[in-house]
Amino acid sequence: MKVAIMGAGMAGLSCAITLEKHGITPMIFESRSRVGDRFINSEAMFNILNRPVKDTIEHISENYHINMDPIDRVKKLTIHSKNEIGNIEGKIGYTNIRGRHNDSYESQLARQVKSKINFNSTYDYPYLCKHFDNVVLATGDGQYAAGIGNYKCDLTVTIKGATVEGNFVTSNPHVWFNYDVIPKGYIWVIPFSEKEGNIVIAYPDYPDNIKLDIEVMWEKAYNLVSKDLKQNFKITDKFEITRYMMGICNKAKLDNTYFVGNCFGTISPGLGFGQFVAVLTGVYAAYDICNIGVYEELTKPLFENYNHSLTLRRFLESQTNEQMDANIKNLDNRILDSIIDKICDNENGIDLMKLSTPVIRLWNNYKEYSNNR
Ligand SMILES: Cc1cc2nc3c(=O)[nH]c(=O)nc-3n(C[C@H](O)[C@H](O)[C@H](O)COP(=O)(O)OP(=O)(O)OC[C@H]3O[C@@H](n4cnc5c(N)ncnc54)[C@H](O)[C@@H]3O)c2cc1C
Repeated sequence: MKVAIMGAGMAGLSCAITLEKHGITPMIFESRSRVGDRFINSEAMFNILNRPVKDTIEHISENYHINMDPIDRVKKLTIHSKNEIGNIEGKIGYTNIRGRHNDSYESQLARQVKSKINFNSTYDYPYLCKHFDNVVLATGDGQYAAGIGNYKCDLTVTIKGATVEGNFVTSNPHVWFNYDVIPKGYIWVIPFSEKEGNIVIAYPDYPDNIKLDIEVMWEKAYNLVSKDLKQNFKITDKFEITRYMMGICNKAKLDNTYFVGNCFGTISPGLGFGQFVAVLTGVYAAYDICNIGVYEELTKPLFENYNHSLTLRRFLESQTNEQMDANIKNLDNRILDSIIDKICDNENGIDLMKLSTPVIRLWNNYKEYSNNR
């Protein structure tokens, strides 16, 4: 059986590893000259966003025998609003490196692949479709799926980030929801060592935001982070991504084409995380090709997760700075704080996203109704 994988990123490589374990050697086509050949950044995986899974990295290793070595466990997530700071503590998740780095997740996955990766590939999807029995679309965006009418784009996002030198606690990422600085978006600080980390802003491309000057927003965000973390960060690298698509395909599989990773819609619109689901979709596509599972069935819960996450985004967007302050202040309340810590910890599998979605949806509908009156 001839299988083409288009894209040697997290989803494509996870698919290749799984196919090989079941005796199929895929042909992998990668447009870049090496795996992860782009800026280096740090990312995170939070267990709470991927329930019922308790521990994402353990889950991938134990169930699919794919090994990913993170930078550190996240033991504390610090959340800043305009006037408040709160913490979620426990075994929350992991941080990791991406891109052109020997320890990036894609580099680690590539070392577990035996099949040849054809770099600098210029083959397009129609060509692969004609010449292979199965095509796994893993190009890291929804463009191809959208091009064949199989993708619902809910929003696009502008992302600007920098690698900075400073002092970091690798187990403690930070996030800011300050809508004076980044309207309807957020700032992340994710360390990738004790001396280096990323400061990243991400905001939706809504008309009011497009009018704003990205350089001014970035400068404000950088100053806010420097002030709150009491440091003079030295910028050593910068990156910018425009119109990063957040959406999901209508059908996970069309004929013999599998949509995996961001081509499927793994990026969760709530907080912008997609790595864990990228791996899952790669594995699930391989299962279908090997007749171990049915891709459409395996991916069903992922559509549900996506919708919960979209509800969360709409909720976050509907909040004012004052409401965000009130939400974050609750993390300081001793009883609430310990409940939230317990829910987010990987010792229990409570699906907060699923449980809270109906309530959040009611709130979103109420806000929409009052805005339209
Ligand atoms: C700045 C940023 C920060 C993020 N932070 C987080 C985070 O903290 N946590 C989290 O979970 N997720 C995060 N994400 C999302 C996460 O990185 C993605 O969801 C995940 O990488 C998707 O995996 P993928 O395999 O679909 O795509 P990728 O891993 O991007 O791989 C796609 C591959 O396809 C190749 N390709 C593209 N076009 C072609 C073509 N025509 N032919 C052949 N190959 C092609 C690319 O070169 C690339 O190697 C972040 C994303 C960005 C941009």
